[in-house]
Amino acid sequence: MDEEVTQTLRNYVGGSFVEHGGTEWMDVFEPATGVRFARLPLSGSHDVDAAVEAARAAQPGWGSLSMGDRAGWLDKIADSLESSFDEIAELESRDTGKPISLARAVDANRSVANFRFFAGLIREQEQETFEMDDATNYVVNRPVGVGALITPWNLPLYLLSWKVAPAIGMGNTVVCKPSELTPMTADLLMRVIDGVGLPAGVVNLVHGDGSGAGSPLVAHPGIDLVSFTGGTATGEKVAASAAPAFKKLSLELGGKNSSIVFADCDMEKTVAGVVRSGFLNQGQVCLCGSRVLVEESVYSEFEGAFVEAVEQMRIGDPADDSTDLGALISKEHLQKVQSYIDLAIEEGGTILTGGTPCLPSGFEGGNWMAPTVIAGLAPESRCSTEEIFGPVVTLHSFKSEEEAVEIANGTRYGLAGSVWTTDMGKGKRVSEAMETGMVWVNTWLHRDLRVPFGGVKDSGVGREGGRWSLGFFSEAMNVCLKHD
Ligand code: NDP
Repeated sequence: MDEEVTQTLRNYVGGSFVEHGGTEWMDVFEPATGVRFARLPLSGSHDVDAAVEAARAAQPGWGSLSMGDRAGWLDKIADSLESSFDEIAELESRDTGKPISLARAVDANRSVANFRFFAGLIREQEQETFEMDDATNYVVNRPVGVGALITPWNLPLYLLSWKVAPAIGMGNTVVCKPSELTPMTADLLMRVIDGVGLPAGVVNLVHGDGSGAGSPLVAHPGIDLVSFTGGTATGEKVAASAAPAFKKLSLELGGKNSSIVFADCDMEKTVAGVVRSGFLNQGQVCLCGSRVLVEESVYSEFEGAFVEAVEQMRIGDPADDSTDLGALISKEHLQKVQSYIDLAIEEGGTILTGGTPCLPSGFEGGNWMAPTVIAGLAPESRCSTEEIFGPVVTLHSFKSEEEAVEIANGTRYGLAGSVWTTDMGKGKRVSEAMETGMVWVNTWLHRDLRVPFGGVKDSGVGREGGRWSLGFFSEAMNVCLKHD
């Protein structure tokens, strides 16, 4: 093992950190430097079997606890995670290449908040009843059983905690499979869970890649539900594997989201908001607004101000508090992003800024791409309709509200969008005409954890968030009591 490999991760099964059954390992690299700093087990079917068995054994006992008791456990996890706040932010920044300020404000903050929020929501749950003339119906929300929770690399602990908290809160036990690229904070969560003494087997974790660990986990007959967040192509495989066994399925998939800028917007705030929406986390957020549609009469003004603001972003050391943009997740992903920029040129686009890898001094081994703005592409071109998932934004102009909506809806995706206007009537009208799961007006990624989250078309199936998560992670059973 290289000197720089400081940590060897283990699976967490049945309340213990355990060796995997095989002999293969995978290196974990720092995206900013390319240095490998940890290794994880490449688990296989036997490891998945052991984790599912542990989860199945723990489920009856855990599922029979009261909601209040389970909410208490979520609070304990939240408290312990909060005491590791700085460690979460540092690990997430190092593992993903994102700026430390973002890892603190978004990743660490939300991971703690997810556990605390679902603890509160579960406590507040009231039993639904439906009275008839001669009978009373009441609804019991029972656990589904054992859940497979599969998460991507862009918001590792944020998304894992978003699934684990409501899943175990509703009485399920789980097996987690984090992205092989970003396993560090999933390991931290297991240490936290171990430290608070959560009953063994309630939360289990298997490290590894999609084919070796993710695929057998989804297909496992002992899995009753699958909550998957990741790319649309992987989502198709997950759906095909889960559907024949009628497993409960939630798919949060890719997006290609439009930001629609009207001439009557507050230009200064809009430029700042659209830059944030295009480039947060180097554009590696499923909700990022990577296609910006601007009303023709203000197009030139917007383009100038937008490019200027993009060029002012500070790209560099993720550990530096003043950094706005960090590195991309991997060399392969950098190549994918670069190939889309090359394609944009072939498709007739003009690079207004960026377009090439940039290597901040001292970080020459990392995966760096300058924030890139492209104009002149047809709205139906591949670059402006396919998910690039990097710091690349395309600009387009439109003449009418109808045309803006038509362009916005002209992709296979339907995850999110934003509308920028001072006319709230127009903001609502345009939002409601967009084929997406969520739209923000004059803001972006302004999250209330109670609201439904999810996409339409190829962006997914089902909703999570607030009571939608509690509904997904439980089975509603009706009991009808006939009156005498
Ligand atoms: P992937 O689809 O490549 O991977 C997601 C997870 O699935 C990883 O843990 C991966 O493991 C695992 N996996 C891969 N193949 C299989 C399989 N056959 N069966 C089961 N699991 C498998 O996505 P990325 O990690 O590249 O994440 C980026 C994508 O996630 C983007 O498309 C983005 O839009 C989407 N996303 C969607 C969100 C939403 O809420 N809609 C939020 C965040 C991201 P491994 O990586 O180890 O191979």
